[in-house]
Amino acid sequence: MRRNLQVVYDTVVRRNQGEPEFHQAVHEVLESLGPVFAQHPEYIEAAVLDRIVEPERQIMFRVPWIDDAGKVRVNRGYRVEFNSALGPYKGGLRFHPTVYSGIIKFLGFEQVFKNSLTGLAMGGGKGGSDFDPHDKSDNEVMRFCQSFMTELSRHIGEYTDVPAGDIGVGGREIGYLFGQYKRLTNRFEAGVLTGKGLTWGGSLARTEATGYGLIHFVTEMLRMEGQDLDGKVISVSGSGNVAIYAIEMAQQLGGRPITISDSSGYVVDPNGIDLELLKRVKLEERGRVSDYAALCSGARFVAGGSVWDVPVEIALPCATQNEIRGDHAVTLVKHGAKLVAEGANMPSTPEAIETFRQAGVKFGPAKAANAGGVATSGLEMQQNASREHWSFEKTATRLETIMSNLHIRCLEAADRYGCPGDYALGANAAGFVKVADAMLDQGVV
Ligand code: NDP
Repeated sequence: MRRNLQVVYDTVVRRNQGEPEFHQAVHEVLESLGPVFAQHPEYIEAAVLDRIVEPERQIMFRVPWIDDAGKVRVNRGYRVEFNSALGPYKGGLRFHPTVYSGIIKFLGFEQVFKNSLTGLAMGGGKGGSDFDPHDKSDNEVMRFCQSFMTELSRHIGEYTDVPAGDIGVGGREIGYLFGQYKRLTNRFEAGVLTGKGLTWGGSLARTEATGYGLIHFVTEMLRMEGQDLDGKVISVSGSGNVAIYAIEMAQQLGGRPITISDSSGYVVDPNGIDLELLKRVKLEERGRVSDYAALCSGARFVAGGSVWDVPVEIALPCATQNEIRGDHAVTLVKHGAKLVAEGANMPSTPEAIETFRQAGVKFGPAKAANAGGVATSGLEMQQNASREHWSFEKTATRLETIMSNLHIRCLEAADRYGCPGDYALGANAAGFVKVADAMLDQGVV
């Protein structure tokens, strides 16, 4: 890393102690920006980098709520409003027991560049809580969401900060959050949240968008090699929103996803994942992947194992951060994987990324490959602002175009900064330059 970038990184580590995920996300971006700074000394003079690694605002709050047994529970809520140079802060809410400030900051930091890459007018932010919706009743989730929103409502708004879903926050949670926001403000402000229900301001194709967008990006990567998805064997991790719709679109294009996973283990189904069964188990019954395996002849559940042990041509991590470690990457390469694209945020460790690079595995980074979700949230905001409701086809076609343009933007930036074909560098550079230029235009704020 160049010396001036190392100084910025050291400051980040000193100021954000005990937050390794945030350090990792910053390091990955800074490491690739050397060629950008060589061409743009004006960014250094205006201390753009020193400013971009510091969130504009960080909010941390108590979330008290009452469980079904009448007991008072307390969780911690977060919202990190990272950068608003390009538009209102935009980024999801994560409800998961592992959430703490380092996770929210890493997600918020990545979101800034991802949103910039989409070409839409959105700044970056992220939020969430260490609340675990898994073992809670609907009423408990509702009471938690109402308490969470009671504080969050002071900080968000259509032109200020627009949250959405992420791990543990789907349509049910967004509904409860929106209901409480409306009650507190006495305003039906549709543009304040995205991922809404279809009858009250939501966008068709938003649910599918991250998974579908991931597969559009993979298709573009393959097209550069004169290939397509037809007949390709694919491993997918996770079994939530991103995983399910990545599997759906991959199957529509002739690919054969053969795995799913959750925090208890993975399932391998050599005949290809039965999508209808998966949706029933996960979306209707809120079950586990082991329940899927029990209902599907030919499928095998492996408790606690690594889904990356399964030999495939394409690997799509769609669960969580740092789920592909260096040793997993070595196994994937040994088994002949040719392409990895990230549906989850920062699912590959730096060691894994280096292994893929050395082995010539095509690597689609999260900032680009999973940007379809937030891009379609941007389309939901457009529909809310104009009081329109687009058809599924119109929204899905816009998503496909956005992913294709984003793919081109990554490759053009990789060329411009001397590393042709390097999607990770291209995504970081293209995302960064647009935000940096806006920050220069707007002065020291
Ligand atoms: P969901 O909550 O719908 O699903 C998450 C899935 O990942 C579940 O199968 C879950 O299993 C698994 N998982 C979560 N944490 C862990 C863990 N620590 N170890 C093993 N498995 C785990 O979330 P999404 O599908 O929405 O999100 C998945 C990833 O995609 C996240 O990284 C998210 O940030 C990213 N993303 C999501 C977008 C969206 O639009 N939803 C947009 C862009 C990125 P279990 O049930 O056992 O916890």
